[in-house]
Amino acid sequence: MISIFGHKNPDTDAIVAPIVWESFLKRKKIKAKAFRQGPLNQETKFVLKFFKVKEPPLKTKVKPNEKIILLDHNLYSQAPEGAKEADLIQVIDHHFIGDFQTKKPIYYRAEPLGSTSTIIAKIFFENGISLRKKEAGLLLAGIISDTLKFSSPTTTPEDKKIAKKLEKIAEVNINELAQKMFEAKSEIKGLSLKEIILKDFKEFEAKKAKFGIGVWETVIPDSLISKAKDLKKEIEILREEKNLDFLFFGIVDIIKKKTFFLLSEKEKEILKKAFSGKIEEDFLVAQGIVSRKKQMVPKFLEILS
Ligand code: MN
Ligand code: MN
Repeated sequence: MISIFGHKNPDTDAIVAPIVWESFLKRKKIKAKAFRQGPLNQETKFVLKFFKVKEPPLKTKVKPNEKIILLDHNLYSQAPEGAKEADLIQVIDHHFIGDFQTKKPIYYRAEPLGSTSTIIAKIFFENGISLRKKEAGLLLAGIISDTLKFSSPTTTPEDKKIAKKLEKIAEVNINELAQKMFEAKSEIKGLSLKEIILKDFKEFEAKKAKFGIGVWETVIPDSLISKAKDLKKEIEILREEKNLDFLFFGIVDIIKKKTFFLLSEKEKEILKKAFSGKIEEDFLVAQGIVSRKKQMVPKFLEILS
């Protein structure tokens, strides 16, 4: 049995890619099971409900020599506990490759595309294996989520082409699905500020510092912008709790394509160095910045190395 994982703090791509990859392997007569490494965000919950698919079970640890597949990440810091000692057999990913080492040859597929879901869909097409309606819908949701419906700079023509194909198979409308996903994602009712900051959060290591970046993608940024003072307090607590040198938090307006970076005490100087933009009270407003992977991480790595 092979365990398939998306990264910690899963986003939609990190959940749907393992579910559909499990199905691919099963059709190749390979026993595999998809897992999630944490609670689902509201967008992903909506997607699974919409396509009537069950949540994968939670699993955050693996045994030595357990066969594992990592999707949508390649850093051990984002993999389950024990991954370094496990038997890694596949990686399918669209992120930068960190200092990655394996003991034996593995199947490694990386493409600079908008989502892991795009790559998974390509593999189905390349192998002439037909996607079921639901599966196509899940992968389409993964592409919409990661590319913010093709508006993120990570989007490639190939993502759009594959999405069109998936739209047909899934018999859904991309615009309608995206609208519903983004509304689900923007809902802050019932969430604490801590949960909001950590909802979509990743940690990185630069030469001189450990840092985390939390992003909150939304179609209604104002509801959070008004909570700046409390957000700052929460950042102070979380930075300490997580043992980080810096904890950046940005509210990403996915309609107007800009990020409101919270000018928290320790982070504000670095933010000003990293991005030009208007200062609006407690935020630096970076026009055109929406992608953590392509726009935020490289900047912070550069400054902190
Ligand atoms: Mn992801
Ligand atoms: Mn992804």
